[in-house]
Amino acid sequence: MANYDGNNIFAKILRNELPSKKVLETDYALAFHDINPQAPVHVLVIPKGPYVSMDDFAANASSEEIVGLWSAVGETANTLGLVEGGYRILSNHSVHAHQDVFHLHIHILGGRPLGPMLEGGDVPPDGSWQRSE
Ligand code: 5GP
Repeated sequence: MANYDGNNIFAKILRNELPSKKVLETDYALAFHDINPQAPVHVLVIPKGPYVSMDDFAANASSEEIVGLWSAVGETANTLGLVEGGYRILSNHSVHAHQDVFHLHIHILGGRPLGPMLEGGDVPPDGSWQRSE
């Protein structure tokens, strides 16, 4: 069961308690530039509802919220001029993916050739990658 903390950074951005460089806002989603870009264009798209990650969102969001978020992702990439050159979307859930902010966010990356999908990889320090079978 997801345990959403209403004091996470993106909740504060949604409430305008923290600033963000907005790209797009709809009834269901907000898109803003990542503070530490990993590509020439790096934008985050978040749902307005309180969802910890994709797992929570997929299980508990309404159809309108799901359509609203994914429509906003496509519209944001288009607004950013990334459609012709191409872009990558990704979303990190929990430990193996190194999720840092516990409000669902879709990363949009682009603006240059992005290389292979995954490079390297490491082991979380707490050993939680090991299966208990
Ligand atoms: P995660 O690792 O959870 O998928 O990604 C979190 C992302 O949020 C990182 O790319 C990080 O740079 C970004 N981020 C963290 N704090 C802030 C902030 O205060 N403002 C913005 N715009 N991005 C942030």
